[in-house]
Amino acid sequence: MKEFKMVNIKNYLSKEMSVIHPVQYSPKGYFVPEIVSEYGQISSFFKVMPFLFPYMIKTLFNIRKSYKSLKYNPGFVKSYITESELIELETYAKKLGCSQLGYIKVPTEYIYSNKVILFENAIVLTMDMKKQFMSKAPSIQTSQEVWRAYAGLGKVVNQLSEYLRKKGFQAQAGPALGGETNYTFLAQKAGLGFIGKHGLLISKLNGPSQRIAVVYVNIENFPITETSEYNWITDFCETCNRCVRKCPSDAIYKKTEQLENGGKRHIDFKKCAIPFSKTGGCSVCIKECTFFNTDYEKIKHLNKGKINS
Ligand code: SF4
Ligand code: SF4
Repeated sequence: MKEFKMVNIKNYLSKEMSVIHPVQYSPKGYFVPEIVSEYGQISSFFKVMPFLFPYMIKTLFNIRKSYKSLKYNPGFVKSYITESELIELETYAKKLGCSQLGYIKVPTEYIYSNKVILFENAIVLTMDMKKQFMSKAPSIQTSQEVWRAYAGLGKVVNQLSEYLRKKGFQAQAGPALGGETNYTFLAQKAGLGFIGKHGLLISKLNGPSQRIAVVYVNIENFPITETSEYNWITDFCETCNRCVRKCPSDAIYKKTEQLENGGKRHIDFKKCAIPFSKTGGCSVCIKECTFFNTDYEKIKHLNKGKINS
C-alpha cells in the first residue's frame, strides 16, 4: 500500500515567516494515521473507522485549519502579557474544555526532524479522557473517547490561537493528533505530570488518561516553572511494570531507551500500531496503569520510604 502522508506545516509557511529548526539528531515525527497506515492492520482499521469517522473528520479539519490560519497572525504588536491577560487566557482555556495548562520554552531537541515551529515559547494543554469509557479498553467506546479528545483538543488550540491573535499576539496551534514537537516531554517539562513507563503523561488529577496539544506563541514573559514533584514516578514504575505485562503486543519496553537528543523511547510504535489499528485506539496501557485505577496521592503515600520521593 502507498505510504499515507499527512499535511506538513512546511507547506503553509510564507517567506516572511521566520522559523525555529530542530537539532541535527532530533527524531522524525509522525501523525497517528501515518503510523497506523504504515505499520498497522489497515483492513481492520477500515472496519472500525465508521464508528470514529465524525471525530476523525473534525480532527483532520482542525489540523489543516491550524496551518492555514498562520497567515492571519498580526504583524508584530506585542510580546508581553499582563497578569490579568494571563488569568483571562487561563479562564478561557478552561471554559473551552482544557483540563490543565502550563508554560514552557521549547528545547530545540524536542522539535521533530521533519518539522519546524514559529515561536520558542508555548502553552501546553491537556484534555481529559473520561474514565467511564477508558476503563472499557479495548472497545469502540474507548476509541470514540480517544478520538473525541483528539477532535476536541484540536479545536481548542485553534480557538486559543484565534483568541491570542485578537489580543495582538502571534500564535501557532499545534495539532492534537501529533505535531511538530514531542508533547509528552513538553508537558512533563511544563510541570503537568510525569511520563510513565508506557510513555504517556501521568497527571495528578487524571492519571494517564488525557491527550496533549500545544500553542506556540510570541509571548516572552510566561511564568515558566520547573518542578521535581513527580520525579518519584520513575522509581515507582520500576517496581510496577504492569503496563509492560498487560500490553497486547509487547510494545512497551521494560527498559526505556535513551535517545541521542536527551529524550527517551518508551514503546515500539511499530508493534503498538497493530492493536491500535484493530480497535482504532487500543488504550489498554491507560486502563491498566496503576495511576488509572488508584489515586495519585494514595500511591505516593503508600510508597513513601520505599522509593525516592
Ligand atoms: S496502546 Fe495498546 S499496543 Fe500500544 S502500547 Fe498501549 S497497550 Fe500496548
Ligand atoms: S502501569 Fe505501572 S509501570 Fe506502567 S506507567 Fe503505570 S505506574 Fe508506570
